[in-house]
Formats: sequence, structure tokens, C-alpha cells
Amino acid sequence: MSDSVHNGPMKPAHYVNGVFTTTGSAFPLLSPVDGSQVGTVPEAPRDVVGAAVQAARSALAGPWGRTSVEERCSFLRRIADGIEARFDEFVDAEVADTGKPRELAATVDIPRAIGNFRAYADLAYGRPERAYPTTVPGWSGSGQALNYTVRRPLGVVAIISPWNLPLLLLTWKVAPALAAGNAVVAKPSEETPSTATLLAEVIGEAGLPAGAFNLVHGHGANAAGEYLTSHPGVDAIAFTGASATGAAIMRSAADHVTAVSFELGGKNPALVFADADLAEAVEGTVRSSFTHSGQICLCTERVYVQRPVFEEFIAALAERARALKDYGPMISAEHRDKVLSYYRLAVEEGATVVAGGGVPTFGDERDGGFYAEPTVLTGLPESARTVREEIFGPVCHVAPFDDEDEAVRLANDSRYGLAATVWTTDLSRAHRVAPRIEAGIVWVNCWNLRDLRTPFGGVKASGIGREGGEYSLDFFSEPVNVCVKI
Ligand code: NAD
Repeated sequence: MSDSVHNGPMKPAHYVNGVFTTTGSAFPLLSPVDGSQVGTVPEAPRDVVGAAVQAARSALAGPWGRTSVEERCSFLRRIADGIEARFDEFVDAEVADTGKPRELAATVDIPRAIGNFRAYADLAYGRPERAYPTTVPGWSGSGQALNYTVRRPLGVVAIISPWNLPLLLLTWKVAPALAAGNAVVAKPSEETPSTATLLAEVIGEAGLPAGAFNLVHGHGANAAGEYLTSHPGVDAIAFTGASATGAAIMRSAADHVTAVSFELGGKNPALVFADADLAEAVEGTVRSSFTHSGQICLCTERVYVQRPVFEEFIAALAERARALKDYGPMISAEHRDKVLSYYRLAVEEGATVVAGGGVPTFGDERDGGFYAEPTVLTGLPESARTVREEIFGPVCHVAPFDDEDEAVRLANDSRYGLAATVWTTDLSRAHRVAPRIEAGIVWVNCWNLRDLRTPFGGVKASGIGREGGEYSLDFFSEPVNVCVKI
């Protein structure tokens, strides 16, 4: 498959205090497309993680800690330009690590990473402080004072990111963290270390003072990730990944009362009303369930369709799912096995498999890769594990509903609350239903249409806090009050 081929070995390395190093044992990096080894990843031992935290701390005490917001914003713009100048290299690295279709990396992952740095340069520069003119009757002198806010960085920020949108989700945190003046120690997923390493190169070339951005590679539990999140020198943790990992990180952060921002898992519903443009709803659901083979936290895994159009919808969705050909693999053999175990569980739980349900055969090198078929299920009760647990694969379960209240109740009957999609041509219904859904973002007649200024995050087990625009800058800084007596 020509669009997922990698060029030469990937060479991930740690980046500590402005220097690249591959200290530590190493583990193989496998291509999800054909299972071949594409590189070797160094596993950061505890002392390398400690050195990265120390370098970040020293950067805050040095020139980086004295930069103005203008200087930091121009660093961000230079980083964006640096990624753009090496665009194809970034695309190649993202494709090699994830196996995602080249077009996806070239139109979403890498452009959005560039966009993240530019957006936060604009947002941080345009951000006002607040002033509170104060009068205290009876106070000596004029009785007046001027109170104002000054936003201070939190300090050393640990950033832990997942494998599904490696550079996009990493930069979504790195850009606002640096814009707000923090020093960063980042740990990307062990499955996808390559674009993070290229980013470190670009950041070095942009002239960021040594130690302001550090990168360590390795696994999570009992390894680099946990060494970082439990380190007493870390002031805040920004994490994107699974809800269970968020719980583990919260436990290790508790000892030092470290601030956390969490973007976690989802089991996202789509509601298709009988008055929807059905062709649009089907196409939208194909995108929302099967883009990146369902490995986006915002993907739809539960579809509820109003009964009069249920049969028509499911037939059309199944036909489109069966026709999908140019899709990428699961990130790893382990994740493919997890997705397939849910396909088997669905059948054991009594599902009808309307499309997919197995492993595709291509007749080429992809048969050695980690693929799962786009799958449409129906017929399960709401209590089924397949309907309740996040699968994170190319699969959705479709169930009928009768009225608006039932649709909202079904959508909200989940421990998760990340994203939802509503398909209707009734404007009043859209405005009635959207705010009733327990989710951080509700799309009406679209999916994954993003404005980087808007709040992004989940409710319930899907996260703590909000990212995006001023919301990220709020997390990565703390307003302190200066009071001047007049
Ligand atoms: P994961 O939780 O397994 O791993 C994410 C990161 O955490 C990796 O870098 C990993 O090494 C690290 N990690 C794992 N255990 C750790 C520990 N004990 N201490 C410190 N670090 C640890 O998630 P994943 O499999 O990489 O990604 C898929 C999950 O991420 C899905 O649940 C998906 O919904 C979620 N996700 C959420 C969003 C969002 O914005 N809400 C976006 C993308 C993915």
C-alpha cells in the first residue's frame, strides 16, 4: 500500500536541556501496516526523567523565565514555520508510526500541529489582564487602590500524550504551556515517538532556551510516564489518554497535590432524528465512526436512530461501511486484539453483525499488519458491555428510539461524556436537545468541526478541565493579584 510506506528507520531520542540522547534500554518500534520494525525507541530511566525536570526548573530560573509574552509568541511562530518547512518529513514520520492514511496526516495531523502554535501565539498575545479600581471607605489617605491581575506560569509542566493523533494532541498542550511561560517535560506515547522527536529538533532550531522544552520517551506505568507524573519537581500535569490511566495519574499526583488537566475516553452517541437529511446523517456517521479506524476520542460508537428511519439508516450505513477500502490499521497488535475481542463479545452478547466484524484480507503486505474491519452492530440491550465500554476501533452499535426524551436519556446513559452528534433539520429541536446532552461538545449536523478558540473537554469520566483558546491558557497560568494603594 504505497501511501503508508515509511522511508528509512525512525530515530526517536530524548531531548534534555537542549541535547539529544538515547540513554536507557531500547524497545522496537513496529509498523502497524505490516508489522515490520521501523525503528528503536529509547526507554528513559528515572534519572533521565529527573534530569529533564531539573533542566526545566533551571530554565525557569534562567533566560526562559524572563521572556516576555511577545518573545514567547514569536518563538511559537518560529516553531510553526519550522514544522511547515519540514512538512513532508513530519507526515512521513506520523504515517510510519501510526499507519494512518497519508492524506489524513497531511490534511489533519500536521496542519493542525502548525495551527496550534499559530493559534496560541495569537491568543496569548491578545490576552488582557484585569484591573479592579478599589475604594475602601474609612481607609487612610485617598481610600483608593488599584488591584490588577498578573498571570504567572505554573512552573514545570508534564505533558503526557496518546498515540492516536500524536503530534496534534502533543502540540495542543505544548503550545499553550510555552505561551504561558511554563517549562515543559513531554512524554509522547511509546507507540508514536517520532514526530515528537522532530518537534524537539524544530524547537531547538527555533532557538528556545535550553531546558524550556524537554522530551523523554518510554512506557507509562512503572516507567518514564509514572516517573514523570510522580516527580515532586512537577507543578502540573496535562494528560490525554484513557480514563483508567487518568485515574492512575491522579493517584500518583495526589502525594504532591499536583494540578491536573485530563482529556480522557469517550463512548460518544449520535442521535439521528427522522427529520434529518438521511444521506447527510449516513455520510456524517461514516466519518464519525470510521475516520482513523475509529481511533479518535471523538468518534461515535453509539448511534440512536428514530424508529421510522431506523431500517433505512442501518442499511445505508452498512453498505457504506462494507464499501470502505482505504483505511488504516489499529495502532498495535495488542490494540487490534482488544478491538477483535469486542467484536466476539458483541456476538456473545447477542448482536447482529450488519457489516464487518472480522479481519480484512488485502492480498499484500497489509495482511501482516494490525487491521480490523469497519463494523456495524445492532440488536444489543443498553446493558451490553459492547454498548457501555469504549472500544476505540472502527465500530458502532445502532439502536432505535421513539421520541426526543428517550433519545436524550439514551445519550446520557453512559459513564462518559466527551462528544455527541445530533442530526436533525428541525432548528428548534437542535437547540432543545443539544444543551440537554451530557457532553463537552455537541455537534449538530456535522462532526469534528473545530474552532481552536472554543472550550474542549469532557464531563463525567471523560475528563477534568477544558482546553482550547483561553481555557488552556487559564489552566497553564495562575492569576495573582497586585494591590497598589493610591
Ligand atoms: P493510554 O492512557 O494508554 O496512554 C496515554 C499516555 O499515557 C501514553 O503516553 C502512556 O505511555 C501514558 N501512560 C500510561 N500509563 C501511565 C501511568 N500509569 N502514568 C503515567 N503515564 C502513563 O491511552 P492511549 O491508548 O495512548 O490512547 C487512547 C485513549 O486516549 C482512549 O481512551 C481515548 O479515548 C483517549 N483519548 C482522549 C482524547 C481526548 O481529548 N479526550 C484524545 C485522544 C485520545
